[in-house]
Amino acid sequence: MKPPRFAYHAPGSVDEAVTLLGRYGGEAKLLAGGQSLVPLLNFRLSRPAALVDLNRIAALAYVREDGAHVHVGAMTRQRTIEFSPIVRRRLPLLAEATTLVGHLPIRTRGTIGGSLAHADPSAEYPAVLTALDGQVVVRGPRGERTLTAGQLFQGYLTTALAADELLVEVRLPAMPDGAGFAFEELSRRHGDFAIIGIAAMVVRTDGGGCAAARLATAGAGPVPVRLRAAEEILERDGLSDAAIEAAASRAAELVDPPSDLHASAAYRRNLTRVLTGRALRRAISTSNTLSPASGRGQGEGPLEGEGPLEGEGPLG
Ligand code: FAD
Repeated sequence: MKPPRFAYHAPGSVDEAVTLLGRYGGEAKLLAGGQSLVPLLNFRLSRPAALVDLNRIAALAYVREDGAHVHVGAMTRQRTIEFSPIVRRRLPLLAEATTLVGHLPIRTRGTIGGSLAHADPSAEYPAVLTALDGQVVVRGPRGERTLTAGQLFQGYLTTALAADELLVEVRLPAMPDGAGFAFEELSRRHGDFAIIGIAAMVVRTDGGGCAAARLATAGAGPVPVRLRAAEEILERDGLSDAAIEAAASRAAELVDPPSDLHASAAYRRNLTRVLTGRALRRAISTSNTLSPASGRGQGEGPLEGEGPLEGEGPLG
């Protein structure tokens, strides 16, 4: 099928994009990589009066680091994130999760902002944002606001973004030095959305202790679930096999997954237990080998706000 008719705008700045969204009073859609939106248009499941194409806003594509955070512009392609040295060094969980997003052509066009704004509960980025306590920066006619993952994701494909707002930046705390990480998922075929995915990070202390654990799900409910009670078991009892088993069992109790044609709720719940254990074991094993994420990197360039270290130029 073909999409219904729509007006098309390609603004050169965020302010222009916000003005256009306001002009259409909720009837316009932002176009980022188009990997989710274009199929919805073609199936006529979405019928916007206008598309506001963000691809000419070069200022929205960057990866920057400062002392404590990595800042990723909303229009940064998933492929750029996958190969970003800053992301690999300071957010290796995000780098690994990106390799599981669809296939190469999808990651070449798809953006981090588009994925988070689309809010598919089975997608990898919402789980990583949740696990790492990240935030998104949103711009609209009333100014700028910052939302946590818990504030952003409201339900299935539903966020707290107003119709006249756009997501401009993703802000993630850099992972601590030596943190272990893993993103484990099961999908029917390589590149499919996960039936269940688990994002995990652990910070080990000497003697098998756990200074911090982070666990979040994909596919286990309408929004990503932060498995805080499971994390607490590890932080209290350490990283022994028994503690991992206990945390994995607790994780399965913390989710309320749906049944659909891909899997029953019971299967998804069991998968949450199995993949949590698997993710934790692999995260612990990588915590020995992770190269230290030192404060600012080795003189790689400007601090936040001084300009992009990496990113892409304008398209089209
Ligand atoms: P678009 O499709 O352009 O937009 C998606 C939605 O977000 C639209 O509603 C749009 O208006 C809105 N939007 C876009 N940018 C912004 C912004 N800056 N501010 C506010 N709203 C915005 N994803 C996964 O995570 N895991 C997978 O395994 C996976 N597999 C896929 C397999 C296939 C075959 C396909 C076609 C897609 C798959 N995807 C998967 C989706 C892919 O990752 C998309 O890139 C992503 O969901 C949307 O990003 P996009 O940049 O293409 O956004």
